[in-house]
Amino acid sequence: MNITERIVASIRDVPDFPKPGITFKDITPLLKDVKLSADITNELVEYWSTHDIDVVVGIESRGFIWGNSLAQQMKIPFIPIRKKGKLPAETHSFKYDLEYGSAEVEIHKDAILNGQKVLIHDDLLATGGTAIAAAELVRVSGGIVAGFSFLVELSFLNGIKDLKTYSDHIHSLVSY
Ligand code: AMP
Repeated sequence: MNITERIVASIRDVPDFPKPGITFKDITPLLKDVKLSADITNELVEYWSTHDIDVVVGIESRGFIWGNSLAQQMKIPFIPIRKKGKLPAETHSFKYDLEYGSAEVEIHKDAILNGQKVLIHDDLLATGGTAIAAAELVRVSGGIVAGFSFLVELSFLNGIKDLKTYSDHIHSLVSY
């Protein structure tokens, strides 16, 4: 099996979580498979090493897992984007709409240096709202969005469409 097939075989679909009608793509079984988890990192490194990237930004919380491994392997810094109220120093914040209500994410003001090329990583792309919020935080921090990296893309939601405003480099290991 190739890496895509192995990820698909390992992801656990949890119906009606966190609410009725949503099929949650649970990536925790991938973390139990040490070889697969390492191979995912290697695959991301192989892909993104051909791009000009200074830092990796990971989105809380599942974006921290392979986002940090990727940054370590590429020998570049990792920067967390967290939900409001979690980062201790001065932050930029960005509020965005969800299907019901809204969410707010933050980044430390001194995390990204002016002009740095930033790869945004998360486990899954759905509508794209979260990735766009991250891209806005990168921009307000003075960074340049150099690409988006996901393990999984729910292509039927077409989240990719709005991401193209920020970067054409959008990569997922698995697409549903
Ligand atoms: P969105 O902002 O709609 O692109 O949603 C992406 C964020 O929500 C990511 O951080 C995902 O981890 C999470 N997410 C959304 N839908 C799912 C799903 N069906 N399964 C797992 N995670 C999801």
